Amino acid sequence: MRDTWPLLKDIPFPALSRGRLTTLQLNLGYRCNLSCIHCHVSAGPRRTETMARSTMETALQVARRFKVSTLDLTGGSPEMNVDFRWLVAEARALGLHVMDRLNPTIMEEPGYDWVGTFLAEHRVEAVASMPCYSQQNVDEQRGDGVFEASIRALQTLNALGYAEANSGLVLNLVYNPNGAFLPPPQEALEADYRRLLADNFGIVFNRLYALANMPIQRFGSWLQSKGQFETYMGTLRGAHRDENLESVMCRTMVSVDYNGEIFDCDFNQMLRMPMGGGASPRRLEELLVDALPTRIAVAGHCYGCTAGQGSSCGGALG
Ligand code: SF4
Ligand code: SF4
Repeated sequence: MRDTWPLLKDIPFPALSRGRLTTLQLNLGYRCNLSCIHCHVSAGPRRTETMARSTMETALQVARRFKVSTLDLTGGSPEMNVDFRWLVAEARALGLHVMDRLNPTIMEEPGYDWVGTFLAEHRVEAVASMPCYSQQNVDEQRGDGVFEASIRALQTLNALGYAEANSGLVLNLVYNPNGAFLPPPQEALEADYRRLLADNFGIVFNRLYALANMPIQRFGSWLQSKGQFETYMGTLRGAHRDENLESVMCRTMVSVDYNGEIFDCDFNQMLRMPMGGGASPRRLEELLVDALPTRIAVAGHCYGCTAGQGSSCGGALG
């Protein structure tokens, strides 16, 4: 895989500083039943990296110390971590809001039929990737059969009460462009998703988050192999808006990798950019005693968060 860090590290980006910490994001490991082209963590079925329960315990202590409100679980497929259910139950018992960034096809994998019911029982917010409402685009980006499996899984979540009025069970969808272009305006895209998923499949959801693809990892390598890296960076930089700087996710979150190292966001995690600009990554245990550094480490990929209407874990910023 071609590394994009040498191309990104010297691209100037406006300085960012941290606000109040509200969210601890844990990457539970890189194992996934899919291996999508745009995946910014290069997850896949053969990856073995996984977060240990001891790291999860430290994370819960840090969450209490900083009085964070949300535990944001990501991967790979977070549910493939053997301690996923233990962690969710503990976090909920502490009163934390839990988000699961879920690839819905996991619910169709042998041994994972518990996922939907478990999430509903623990009132976990489901943030499900659904890169398009068109079968062709989804299968192209993620693999044959992924569209149909995703549709069935979303129908199952709906049947469990997700996105039903007054159920309190939230189902948000995530869209990524199927190539080297910016996502269309989130509101219009959300309206299209709402209409087409309801008409064709009877699926309802709460919000759609339209996220730009990050020029790193597998997608960054793909851009280079197609000779499109510079053009894509030009697109991101050309669409940068200063007003998006206020709302980028790194200002309120800390991202923890499977091994207990901490970063300003999961993109910086994949680029191994130490928090606060130090020489090597800091560790989660340090947050049991230390304050967080004010400075956020930035480079060229950050334009992926501030281009157009902006994108963050929570969708468009504007
Ligand atoms: S489903 Fe998500 S984590 Fe898995 S390979 Fe695709 S983008 Fe990566
Ligand atoms: S990639 Fe986005 S979230 Fe991460 S440090 Fe840059 S602006 Fe912040």
